[in-house]
This record gives sequence, structure tokens and C-alpha cells, in this order.
Amino acid sequence: MTLINEHYTEVNDTYLFSEISKRVSAFAAANPDKKIIRLGIGDVTLPLPTSVIKAMQAAVEEMADPATFKGYGPEQGYDFLRDAISADYKSRDIKIESNEIFVSDGAKSDIGNIGDIFSTDNIVLVTDPVYPVYVDTNIMAGRTIRYVGSNAKNSFLPSPPDFHADMIYLCSPNNPTGSVMSREQLKEWVDYALKNEAVILFDAAYEAYISDPELPRSIYEIEGAKKCAIEFCSFSKTAGFTGTRCAYTIVPKILNGRTKPGGHLPLNRLWNRRQTTKFNGVPYLIQKGAAAIYTEEGKREVRDMIGYYMGNAAIITKALSKAGITFYGGVNAPYIWLKCPSGLSSWQFFDKLLNEVNVVGTPGAGFGKNGEGYFRLTAFASRENTVEACDRISGLINI
Ligand code: PLP
Repeated sequence: MTLINEHYTEVNDTYLFSEISKRVSAFAAANPDKKIIRLGIGDVTLPLPTSVIKAMQAAVEEMADPATFKGYGPEQGYDFLRDAISADYKSRDIKIESNEIFVSDGAKSDIGNIGDIFSTDNIVLVTDPVYPVYVDTNIMAGRTIRYVGSNAKNSFLPSPPDFHADMIYLCSPNNPTGSVMSREQLKEWVDYALKNEAVILFDAAYEAYISDPELPRSIYEIEGAKKCAIEFCSFSKTAGFTGTRCAYTIVPKILNGRTKPGGHLPLNRLWNRRQTTKFNGVPYLIQKGAAAIYTEEGKREVRDMIGYYMGNAAIITKALSKAGITFYGGVNAPYIWLKCPSGLSSWQFFDKLLNEVNVVGTPGAGFGKNGEGYFRLTAFASRENTVEACDRISGLINI
């Protein structure tokens, strides 16, 4: 019989979300009259911006005409989108050339697939709590993973460790903790990576939520980062593309990896090779929609959309402050990471919220050891549901 990749047996079952849905379903079945509000979701709820819809509709018409029909597109993405992304970086004084940008169907795919170009002998570093994709994809590949504690003592913004690592996953604004790295903190990591000849895999899926100009939205705002970092961005949370699927990854041309005999190879070339072999590009219609985000109308709509979600975040953080609950995030990030009151565990607090006020969140324990005793709320629900959920949480007795 065919042998399997044994490392798949080492990956934990996706216990977190299945357990949440099991408990919520059981509660709903026993209490059919209760309205359950979900503040645990990491998915957006607002529809796509009008400019995106219009661009996609026009692209559909192009596909109907033999003169403008498109078949396979470039695996790396169409120039019109890569150029628009490059121009956006330029407007922020960051020089990223179009051929350093790879358009894809999602940051999750790219974050998972990037491992293809790296040796399984590399030591991986992740912060704990963590977006589980970094851990699971590396367990599947058989790499050794080391953890850096992200906790209340370091305000969920850990510094680099005193041991060596080769591949470092950083996420800012962070999922699940909502913490955002300052320039100084990110510089510490860039310096660490340069010193260790390591690569930072910088997950900037939530960069558009940063409104404070003092905080870095891109790792390339830090000197030296082009020599040590790959950046992952996504239109999912920026512009409501979670179901539409479009993202991009930046691999600077001056970023090298090492060969066993001690030579150097540009990672841009390797990633290009990987993508042209295993990926056939994002649909033209979708890329046309994504490009519309960079028009004046698109930019305004995206700002409004993010403003709406951050308005929800402000409502949540105000309610938590009023209830005397300690929390992190919710500013420059759509996640609110709260300390479970009265010493409750993550799951105890989950049950309390579900049973007493019928609000669903995400137990922090599901994101790693350091998540125990914490709980994640998100700003992605509707305004109406966010307000109602916060009223209910504020009315919780004995918390
Ligand atoms: N990175 C982080 C930190 C996320 O939270 C998510 C989605 O929830 C992703 C990446 C995946 O983004 P995409 O929808 O582009 O695959």
C-alpha cells in the first residue's frame, strides 16, 4: 500500500472550530428561541465595494467578447495589478518592483506553500499564541518548530529569542492578539534575522487596519528588511475578498537563501519557479476587481469599510473597559484579545458567554499554550449585532 506523509499524523485535529461549532449547535438545539451572536468569526460580513463589483462586471463582459477574452494569465499576476500594488508601495515611500510581487489566491495558500522553497532542515520560529497555519504547515513538512512566548508580560509583543532560528513567522497586526509591532520592535526582529541569516515570513494580512502613521504597515519600512523578509498581504480583510480570493506576496530580488555547499540563490527566482510550476494564476475577473481597490473610488470605499469594522472594535473595547475586563488589541487591528475574568479558563469563559448571554467568541487556548485564560473577539460582525452583543456582555453578572 502507498505510504503516506507520516508528518500528517503529527498535526493536531482542527479541534478548535469544530469544538466551538459542536457546543454552539448543542446550545442552539436546546434553546431554539435564543438569538446567538457570533463575535468569534474571522470572516468579513460587508459586501464587496461597488468599485470592485463594477470592475468585475466589466471584466465578465470582456470575457464574453472574442476580441477581449482571456485564457491563462501570467502565473505571477497581470501587470495592471502588480503595477498598481507597486505604485501603492511607492506612495508610501517603499520601493517594490512589480516583478517582486506575486499575485495569488490567498495569503493562507502562500504562507503554506512558501515552505516548498526552503529546506526541511530549517528551524522554524513562531510566537505563541499563533495563527495555526504557521505551525501546521511546518509540522506537515517535518520541520522543527521553536516557540517564543507572547504574553501579558511582553504585552503580546515578544522580542527575538537568544537561540538561533532560520524561518521566523511574524504577524502584525496580530491574529489572535490584536497587538501591533512598533518600528523599534520590528527592527529588533529584522536585526535578529540579519544576524542569524534567517528569513522572516511577515504576515501583513491586516496591515490596512493600521491607522497610526507611527506603526509600520510593511516590514520594508525597516532598513535591511529586503535582505531578510518576505511579506504576505491579502485583499481578504482589506476589501472583503475572503470568498473572492486574491492576495499577494512580495519576495525582494536581493533576498537570498543558502545552498548546502554554501552558495547563495535569490528566493525570488525560486518562488517564481515554484509558482510557474504549481500555480496557474488568479482569474482575470478577480484581479480586475482587486485592481479597482487602488482607484480613488476604491480607496475611499476600503477606508469606509475598515472604518466600519474599527467602529465595531471601538464599541467592543468600550464595553470591555466598562466591565473592567483587561484586553489587548482593538486599535489598529480588528481583533480584541481579552483576559478571561475571575480566573476562568478560555473554555469556561466560552461556555459562560454562550450560556448566559448567547454570545460566541474564540477560546484563546486554541491558538497555543499562552492563549489559555484569554479569549478572542472580532470586529467583523454587523454593527447591530456588535452593539447587542456588547450590551449583553456589559449586563453579565458575576464576571
Ligand atoms: N494570515 C492571517 C493572520 C489570517 O488571519 C488570515 C485569515 O484569517 C490569513 C492569513 C489568510 O488570508 P487569506 O484569506 O488571504 O487566505
